[in-house]
Amino acid sequence: MSRVYNFSAGPAVLPEEVLREAAEEMLDYKGSGMSVMEMSHRSKVYDTIIKEAEQDIRDLMHIPDNYRVLFLQGGASQQFAMIPMNLMKNRKAGFIVTGQWAKKAYQEAQIYGEAVKLASSEDKTFSYIPDCSNLDIPDDLDYVYICENNTIYGTKFRQLPDTKGHLLVADVSSCFLSEPVDVGRYGIIYGGVQKNIGPAGVVIVIIREDLITEDVLEGTPTMLKYKTHADNDSLYNTPPCYGIYMCGKVFKWLKNMGGLEEMKKRNEEKAQILYDFLDNSSMFHGTVEAKDRSLMNVPFVTGNKELDAKFVEEAAKAGLVNLKGHRSVGGMRASIYNAMPKEGVEKLVSFMKEFEAANK
Ligand SMILES: *Cc1c(COP(=O)(O)O)cnc(C)c1O
Repeated sequence: MSRVYNFSAGPAVLPEEVLREAAEEMLDYKGSGMSVMEMSHRSKVYDTIIKEAEQDIRDLMHIPDNYRVLFLQGGASQQFAMIPMNLMKNRKAGFIVTGQWAKKAYQEAQIYGEAVKLASSEDKTFSYIPDCSNLDIPDDLDYVYICENNTIYGTKFRQLPDTKGHLLVADVSSCFLSEPVDVGRYGIIYGGVQKNIGPAGVVIVIIREDLITEDVLEGTPTMLKYKTHADNDSLYNTPPCYGIYMCGKVFKWLKNMGGLEEMKKRNEEKAQILYDFLDNSSMFHGTVEAKDRSLMNVPFVTGNKELDAKFVEEAAKAGLVNLKGHRSVGGMRASIYNAMPKEGVEKLVSFMKEFEAANK
């Protein structure tokens, strides 16, 4: 068996310890005589799994008691519709468009009401986060929406926007559990887990309790009401059982590592190694404004498409895989999520140095 360093943006690397543990439990979960994949979601054994998963993410993020944690399906993309269906009471919401995912959410919301573009960084191919300290925000907005870490472009909101008292909704798919957050500042904070937490198929929605009501847009399907899932503790229908089990294991792994303060420290250290190299290289360059750099997704280019392709190919041969940039931007992108060890980043940087020397 040989594992590679996987820099994929998602589905992405998971902690090896977690995978080993899951492998050990594959045929017989704790004496149940069956795999978690085979058991009833209504069984006692599974109930413990999902309840512990919820408690562990609550502990990790210090989630206040007036927030619910929902384990849902449909990916982050389904939330682009579910959020307006449940929150757009005045049929008007504001969007800060900082990349493809924010743009998709903005476009989807237009199906349900008026989506107001409050700010955008599209003028410079989403290479920065606009100044959101004093936005012109209409009074009658139901909420302000952001994508906190832009997976494709590699930017991150270092400061949350001033929403001027409006509810903040954030997609944190690619920075989930990468550092401490103040959940109380959000109405909803949500993300698909396949970037930084677990296997694809689960989306975690952390939502302030008072936002969970029957007062949703007409025609909202039962499955797309937060209330349906909140009233049934995420067990209204069969949840993505195995995915939730894996997320639970990752939560325990994070707790063992020292929690989100420790993850932040490690993530900053890893990102620094890569950014320092990019800032000093004569061949490779970062593509976004330094002040807005993501700790999780690091895009870079050589400025020469053939050289980029050669780099991606040779890196893969050296066991550094999935470094190709998103199809919409090209170049390279290294996603260095929680589960990417520091050695992976160090190996990448030494490979970049060798490549630079060999291709001058
Ligand atoms: C990957 C990603 C999405 C889309 O997630 P799906 O689960 O595929 O719908 C949305 N937002 C962000 C920030 C992402 O990184």
